[in-house]
Amino acid sequence: MKVVLQNLTKIFPSRDKKAGGEVVAVNDFTFEIPDGKLIGLLGPSGCGKSTTLYMISGLQKPTSGKIFFGEDDVTTLATESRGIGLVFQNYALYPHMTVKQNILFPLENLKGKDKLTKTEMQERALEVAKLVQIDELMDRKPSELSGGQQQRVAIARALVKMPRVLLLDEPLSNLDARLRLQTREEIRRIQKETGITTIFVTHDQEEAMSISDMIVVMKLGVLQQIGKPQDVYDDPVNLFVAKFLGTPPINVLEGRIANGKICVGDAAIGEAAGVEDQDIYIGIRPEGFELDANGALECKLSNVEVMGRDVSIVSTHEASLNPVIRSIIDADNKIDLSAETVRFNIKPHKLFVFNKETEKRIYW
Ligand code: ADP
Ligand code: MG
Repeated sequence: MKVVLQNLTKIFPSRDKKAGGEVVAVNDFTFEIPDGKLIGLLGPSGCGKSTTLYMISGLQKPTSGKIFFGEDDVTTLATESRGIGLVFQNYALYPHMTVKQNILFPLENLKGKDKLTKTEMQERALEVAKLVQIDELMDRKPSELSGGQQQRVAIARALVKMPRVLLLDEPLSNLDARLRLQTREEIRRIQKETGITTIFVTHDQEEAMSISDMIVVMKLGVLQQIGKPQDVYDDPVNLFVAKFLGTPPINVLEGRIANGKICVGDAAIGEAAGVEDQDIYIGIRPEGFELDANGALECKLSNVEVMGRDVSIVSTHEASLNPVIRSIIDADNKIDLSAETVRFNIKPHKLFVFNKETEKRIYW
């Protein structure tokens, strides 16, 4: 089921009338989520991810704009009638019920033509339990399960009604690192197997990048960029997106364009033919550095961290906005650890230039 958001906006009135200051949680969102895809809705805390998801679910009413499931306008439709499955950060299972009863619960409330027989319900519950691999745990209570298992029950419960759209709001945040990794792969597998259009909300860029067909990057209620994870990483439209994606994060330096050259201090580290002279921010991905004794960018060498296949050279430069510059290079490179400085050439496709005032990307 394709999901379309059209000029979707949510404004929360100020809690304190005198102080004023309403919150525009979601500001004029327009985008289309293709049928059967997994979309990662990504941005820092407070940028409006949950609000967007709640509007799609019907739990919150938009201030303006429209939501379509396929060709159906569902903007004013009640949550129960939308055919969605919801999973939240805290799993919210019924503690006094067994796993099986938790999964059956949404089916027992089906009315009219959707009503199922007892046998049908049992079959359906077992089917989703198998899908999320908890069919051995059906008679346990939630308190007898690990966090990861509880979250699987919550996913099974969201899937049992065969939703048209699956909505996941930071579903992995309560899990430890290893389980988070495992469960996110699990979610991806389940999504692929069922083909249900899924929106996955997270503030964790690595999580979103690793499982999404497409990511939507948000900042303060405003959509910044939408695209395949790799495309957004390789081609960020502004400094915010460039900084938000990638571990280790992008290195940002102050610089300027002068005579079509990208300059850090006196050093020309790249070409920007035809671009007007101006002050800029320069973003360089950690993998964008090449060691070269005659390289254009000279940095003070602080440390070299061995990471196996690669090494991370930690250095400093007065134009850098980050406390250190982190570059990742192949471990085969010989680095003179006793040297005071290290010189790099910068790979042109790993270097981005942003206008200093608007922080928008400058293209040439
Ligand atoms: P996220 O999920 O990305 O962390 P939210 O969608 O929860 O962000 O919130 C977006 C903004 O809207 C925040 O500034 C938040 O404080 C505000 N907000 C969310 N819900 C309400 C509400 N019920 N009343 C007033 N402000 C709200
Ligand atoms: Mg949230």
